[in-house]
Amino acid sequence: MADVANLEAAFERTTITDENDEQIASTSTYHKTTPSLANNVSLAGLSSSQSAANRMKLPHQIPLQKLATHNASKSASIAKVVITASSSRPLEQNPSHRRTLTESALYTVPTAPKQWHLGMFEIGKPLGKGKFGRVYLAKEKSSGFVCALKVLHKSELQQGKVEKQVRREIEIQSHLTHPNILKLFGHFHDAKRIFLILEFAGKGELYKHLRREQRFPEPKAAQYVAQMAAALKYLHKKHVMHRDIKPENILVGIHGEIKISDFGWSVHAPNNRRNTMCGTLDYLPPEMLRGGGKDNFYTEKVDLWSLGVLTYEFLVGEAPFEDTQVMTQRKIARGEYTVPSFVSPEARDLIKRLLVLDPEKRIALEDVELHPWIIKHCKGSARAYERASAGKVGSSSSPETDETY
Ligand code: ATP
Ligand code: MG
Repeated sequence: MADVANLEAAFERTTITDENDEQIASTSTYHKTTPSLANNVSLAGLSSSQSAANRMKLPHQIPLQKLATHNASKSASIAKVVITASSSRPLEQNPSHRRTLTESALYTVPTAPKQWHLGMFEIGKPLGKGKFGRVYLAKEKSSGFVCALKVLHKSELQQGKVEKQVRREIEIQSHLTHPNILKLFGHFHDAKRIFLILEFAGKGELYKHLRREQRFPEPKAAQYVAQMAAALKYLHKKHVMHRDIKPENILVGIHGEIKISDFGWSVHAPNNRRNTMCGTLDYLPPEMLRGGGKDNFYTEKVDLWSLGVLTYEFLVGEAPFEDTQVMTQRKIARGEYTVPSFVSPEARDLIKRLLVLDPEKRIALEDVELHPWIIKHCKGSARAYERASAGKVGSSSSPETDETY
């Protein structure tokens, strides 16, 4: 229940102005109800470096005045946050909040109304900021359903020429329902913004967990890989290739389960994206190195390669082909990598079967789920994991020297 308490604490009585909500749109009357606390705070200026700190702290722990000065230069506000008069009242004293925000509310999807609009949501703390989107914790008022609201500015999407990708992201993600895939419940828009109603991943980015822990113990890594395999199996059955599998695109749910997100590039060649925006080639499969020319077709097997890179990174703490751009490409093309000695023989066997140059020869997802390393750590699930994770990282039996492939 501590999680629920944290969630409650994260909800300030804040709301983003809603161009669809007439009551709110008529700002003069609306502001009359918020005399001393009517600080309009632009959230558009939150830089990505700030966003990590903001995740836990904003807006309720940082003085609003400070926030406002931070963002003074960014007048093109994406969302005007208005603190309502009731913000002085602690949530604990508000019985209606306590009633609606139960743990079950987190998992009960509200009956979808015909038309979503911003007025239906109570906006909480910022969860993060991506290239095009700012994401806020939100609560659907009538049901108390907690979600993440991703706000995209239409003008930014236009400038970035990514409207088509966003449309695809919405199209694809709204048709996917799997415990390890971040659910898109719905979307709506106003004149300037698009809002995506997303499942809230309570434990944030997997990437941050990995950096914090340096590398995952084998049981934990195996459970993550098994969840990835299950999600990818589901996607491939639906003929969706993700094509951008990496820790940055994986979120962690409240129970520690992983949630694949970021389908914006699932039909967009990631090599373009990496060259132009991301700068990392680490997860790029060899068949995509040459780009999507006429003579270079690739299939959903690209995700298997990336799963191999991911498995390696979970266990080692860095990607197998990490180097300068030129060297990374060369190593990928040759399938050249070294597995440190602390990685167990079973784990290195699975990596070896995934990081195969010939896409057709990569281990099938069904066989990933049946691989001895997965079976060893995932059978009996929680108990096996708890027992094993009590030991030290890398304590499993392993060859004494690093192995190069
Ligand atoms: P990109 O623009 O490359 O997609 P991104 O994935 O970081 O970058 P967003 O998807 O807009 O961008 O998300 C921004 C951040 O907000 C994420 O990195 C994550 O920390 C947080 N976040 C996004 N969606 C959720 C969610 N559903 N639950 C919890 N946190 C989320
Ligand atoms: Mg994203």
